[in-house]
Amino acid sequence: MKIGVAGVAGRMGRALVRAVVETEGTTLAAATERRGAGEAGKDAGVIAGVGESGVIVSVDPTVFGDCDAVLDFTSPGASAELSSSLAGLGTAHVIGTTGFTEADETVIHAASRHIPIVKSGNMSLGVNLLSVLVERAAAALPQADIEVLEMHHRRKVDAPSGTALLLGDAAARGRGIDLKSQSVMSREGHTGPREAGTIGFATLRGGSVIGEHDVILALDSERVVLSHIAEDRGVFAHGAVAAALWAVKQPAGLYSMRDVLGLNE
Ligand code: NAP
Repeated sequence: MKIGVAGVAGRMGRALVRAVVETEGTTLAAATERRGAGEAGKDAGVIAGVGESGVIVSVDPTVFGDCDAVLDFTSPGASAELSSSLAGLGTAHVIGTTGFTEADETVIHAASRHIPIVKSGNMSLGVNLLSVLVERAAAALPQADIEVLEMHHRRKVDAPSGTALLLGDAAARGRGIDLKSQSVMSREGHTGPREAGTIGFATLRGGSVIGEHDVILALDSERVVLSHIAEDRGVFAHGAVAAALWAVKQPAGLYSMRDVLGLNE
């Protein structure tokens, strides 16, 4: 299967190239970077540290016309724009980017009428399994106060993380409530007591932390803490490759990693 990688010089872009090269049956067929990026014209394999691949980094998304699927961990605007281009090319789109606006989501939704799109704030098996456990725990402990705590490296630009939102959404689903109206994204000053039934978020940033998440279910005199620690970006990259292998066999539509992993059955 021919795979393209968008944003190939990024932290995840390089991990994605390595995962494609390491996976049997997948070949790196095209790679892009942002217009004006210094890596344009260079070999994608060399950038990713896996040696010459013969794939030269382009700034033009039409290079993905020859691919079966594209792996995309870039920026919200870039991913939304790429989903429209790939809809025109008939190429499956795997989106790991986080921090989308509602307008971006609308564009991606429209593209998914023409191509299969797998979109997830976290592509790891562990976090997607955790989301199922969180949904069950939130339903089983309706009186618990739920707080989602996350830490990432100092260069992360969006908060809370896509994974924190994914886990918060799983908790909200378990409770049968709407996350948007029931979430408390940050606290400062005289906040008053905690409002029952809300789902709180707290964000830490620093160092080179790849991704750590705790979902805390706090009761009187006891707490349940469901945690995930990512030790290597390879877990997201290999999840994205698995998503691409799955997506090319699906009809047009918008899918999650839980669909890919069969965790929604
Ligand atoms: P990063 O190192 O900044 O990489 C993003 C790359 O995309 C950069 O090289 C950037 O180039 C490039 N880019 C921007 N616009 C582009 C365009 N129009 N065409 C092609 N390339 C473009 O960030 P990262 O740490 O890899 O993370 C990327 C995204 O993935 C973030 O949203 C992050 O939250 C998310 N993420 C998701 C998961 C998951 O499992 N879903 C896991 C980890 C990270 P410039 O630097 O030149 O702008």
